[in-house]
Amino acid sequence: MRIYNFSAGPAVLPLPVLEEAQRDLVALPGVGMSVMEISHRSAAFENLLNQAIEDIRALANIPSSYRILMLQGGATLQFSMVPMNLLMAGATADYIDTGSWADKAIKEARKVGSVNVAATTKGDKYSRLPAQQELTLTPGAAYVHVTTNNTIEGTEWKAIPDVGSAPLVADTSSDMFSGPIDVARFGLIYAGAQKNLGPSGVTLVIIREDLLARSTDGLPIMLNYKVHADNNSLYNTPNTFGVYILGLTMKWLRSLGGLDAIGARNERKAAKLYAEIDRTGFYRGTAQKKSRSRMNVTFRLPTEEHEKAFVKESTAAGLDGLKGHRSVGGMRASIYNAFPEDGVEALVQFMREFERKHG
Ligand SMILES: *Cc1c(COP(=O)(O)O)cnc(C)c1O
Repeated sequence: MRIYNFSAGPAVLPLPVLEEAQRDLVALPGVGMSVMEISHRSAAFENLLNQAIEDIRALANIPSSYRILMLQGGATLQFSMVPMNLLMAGATADYIDTGSWADKAIKEARKVGSVNVAATTKGDKYSRLPAQQELTLTPGAAYVHVTTNNTIEGTEWKAIPDVGSAPLVADTSSDMFSGPIDVARFGLIYAGAQKNLGPSGVTLVIIREDLLARSTDGLPIMLNYKVHADNNSLYNTPNTFGVYILGLTMKWLRSLGGLDAIGARNERKAAKLYAEIDRTGFYRGTAQKKSRSRMNVTFRLPTEEHEKAFVKESTAAGLDGLKGHRSVGGMRASIYNAFPEDGVEALVQFMREFERKHG
């Protein structure tokens, strides 16, 4: 029996996706072999890959001037690949520091070139996002890097900041396709798949074609966006199984009605949970209200003893993965696209009962 999985990542996948993968695991229809046993250069696999790319393009209406890549190494490798490919010699990259993942991206970029932290909310324990007027942008910056959803701290940009003419680079690992996204506003978007898109081991990269010209031949070949784009992500053996599951997840998203539909559902799920957090003073949301994430809902209880009991009792009740990240403590409910609405209701019920018993 499946329980409710609030894990931050790898995270819950849609049940219909798992069921289809299970049904076809031993032999893909018309192929007679498992997706893990066929050549990545076979027509069968190329069709799977191209269908996944087509579904991604259709979901967000991505202009043809953008290339869609399926890479490996997680979002963390993108922390290095982005500056190695896009930060030209002598130029500066602007980074907006809104959380632990943004901070890691900054540390990697500094190994490659000149970095300006255009704003940071570290002084507020990353409990909020900066306002537009807090940004100190570099004229002629190579790019501006932003983290759209801060997975650990539970904050999410409601509107992407205006960065002028510099290409906007976004780490969307924990809110990719959680609602409509205007890809044309970005130069490059990347996301590790294991939160909202599929299993771990695949990284989605969407890059504006003109930026491929910045990738120089001197780069290690596996770290060169242009090489991956020129080879349709098949320069070497990709994570074939991961691409397959990501493709099924994209098909599932389309069948639900696409990004508007999932966006409305995600708003509803998050609103229910925040309403419970705000209902009395017992629970306390850690993110400032204007910056609250729809994906990772972070909250604390009156004492650490309460929090320990909450983790223990919720786990026993079949609500798994609610313990917050070790760096911030408290609770974190990750309620990505595939997390069912009735699971949110079950958590709300549990929270009421817990407060009644311990409040
Ligand atoms: C999880 C996460 C990462 C790290 O992803 P990996 O795929 O494990 O490298 C980076 N950025 C954000 C915003 C994340 O949520």
